[in-house]
Amino acid sequence: MQTALIGIDIGGTNIQGVAVVDGKISARGKIATRARQGAATVIADLVELVHKLAAGKKIQAVGLGIPGLLDAERGICISSCNLGWQEVHISRELSRRIDSPVLIDNDARVAALGEWSQGQAQNCRDFICLTIGTGIGAGIVNDGHLLRGARWSAGEAGHMILDPHGPECACGNKGCLEALASGTAIARQGRAAAAANPSSLLAKSNDIDAAVVFAAAQAGDRAAAQVVATAMTWLGLGVANLVNLFNPRLVVIGGGVSLAGEQVVAPVRAQVHRYAMKVQRETVTITTSSLRDAAGVYGALELARRGL
Ligand SMILES: [Zn+2]
Repeated sequence: MQTALIGIDIGGTNIQGVAVVDGKISARGKIATRARQGAATVIADLVELVHKLAAGKKIQAVGLGIPGLLDAERGICISSCNLGWQEVHISRELSRRIDSPVLIDNDARVAALGEWSQGQAQNCRDFICLTIGTGIGAGIVNDGHLLRGARWSAGEAGHMILDPHGPECACGNKGCLEALASGTAIARQGRAAAAANPSSLLAKSNDIDAAVVFAAAQAGDRAAAQVVATAMTWLGLGVANLVNLFNPRLVVIGGGVSLAGEQVVAPVRAQVHRYAMKVQRETVTITTSSLRDAAGVYGALELARRGL
């Protein structure tokens, strides 16, 4: 009987899934994340999605990328702000409904697995994958090992504190990289710039997100360009610190913010060139993800494959 391997990436807005049969992608699916309806609803939606993707084939394993703090060994989501989850035994709950093993890991680490297996970091033993969207997360591969830490919490690059007097972060601290340079932070600063500069392009938009700020900056709007320059200066500093710490060959920038391409990569390269140490800056290449929003599902698939 044919078997299916399934990868699923749970985001705050959408859940994406992909199935592989005989080494080839056999199905893809995308549904809305009904996080507000509670964990039981999301789990029921996951069961339905898995069955749809498997299309009657026996399910070999499911890999799941989850935004939040996890105990991957016990298959528990300890907490997730994006999903509103606390102590959800996701592997057990899903596994008994679909009768197959369910492996989980943090979404940022899963994205790194995606870059490793299908994206920019193939055959690379030392790289960092930064995912910049609502928040900022990192998957760090060092000497061929994906770093997980003592309790599955390594790689929280978004909470690297760069300015202790800076804006408040969701984690309770101030001036974390995420509070300075995530899509959420850029949108917030864009709204403030619009209010302070009524003649700016930003003030013409009534729904300012990071993409609007990048587009206005590209079009030559000074207020928007200032917001982008400030955020990218912080991001570059964060990356320079990571480059000094881990001496990676490659830094892959993914997530929604990475879609701004050179507007992100060029200032980050400049900061790394300025602040990273000689050997580290000479080793590293900084690039954006080629997988766009698919790094998570490919990574989840790789997680399932490794779990076999
Ligand atoms: Zn923080």
